[in-house]
Amino acid sequence: MSSYQEVEVVIIGAGFAGLAAAFELKKQNISFVVLEARNRPGGRVYSIKTADGVTIDMGAQWIDKDHHRINKLLSQFKLKTVSTFKKGKDIYNINGKKVISKKPPLSAPGLLDLFQATTKLNKVSKQINLNAPWCSLEAKKYDGQTMEQLLIKTRCIHQGAIGIIDFC
Ligand SMILES: Cc1cc2nc3c(=O)[nH]c(=O)nc-3n(C[C@H](O)[C@H](O)[C@H](O)COP(=O)(O)OP(=O)(O)OC[C@H]3O[C@@H](n4cnc5c(N)ncnc54)[C@H](O)[C@@H]3O)c2cc1C
Repeated sequence: MSSYQEVEVVIIGAGFAGLAAAFELKKQNISFVVLEARNRPGGRVYSIKTADGVTIDMGAQWIDKDHHRINKLLSQFKLKTVSTFKKGKDIYNINGKKVISKKPPLSAPGLLDLFQATTKLNKVSKQINLNAPWCSLEAKKYDGQTMEQLLIKTRCIHQGAIGIIDFC
């Protein structure tokens, strides 16, 4: 016979958003369950260890001083960060080939697509209220579309350009 447990909140996904929500609910003593489709928590935040024991971040890795909420979580959980650098050469992995280049190593049409798409993204991001994104004028519209749909709208079809935006 299956047993049922009643909870006040169901959180879908154990990525950072879901885990942070669970953390807040726990503090408020509100009952919840977190449902995760994968066999691990963390979502896009994911690290692996190489054979020689080096940890490599496959997802989120950089935190800036402006990332107030994640910085708060770091201090709450007493986690340490390591410094990184912003200056230096950009290294691209193009089909397994290492390319060092000041600009993305794309053909002219690829660079044009990348420029158009990043211009559009920068324009859209300026309309978003960072403190309450859901209150922004077009919040519903942007929340209801995927990155792929946005790229199609800006006519960004070059695979290299999509790959670079996808990674960012
Ligand atoms: C390569 C890469 C590098 C990045 N670098 C940075 C960085 O340097 N700095 C930074 O701040 N951010 C970075 N990001 C972005 C950051 O990882 C994400 O913004 C953040 O992890 C999103 O968290 P989330 O909880 O909203 O979503 P996710 O991490 O995507 O979590 C969603 C979870 O929900 C689960 N799920 C989805 N649907 C269902 C369902 N129907 N039922 C059950 N479970 C479901 C998924 O399996 C997943 O575990 C990077 C992302 C990638 C991929």
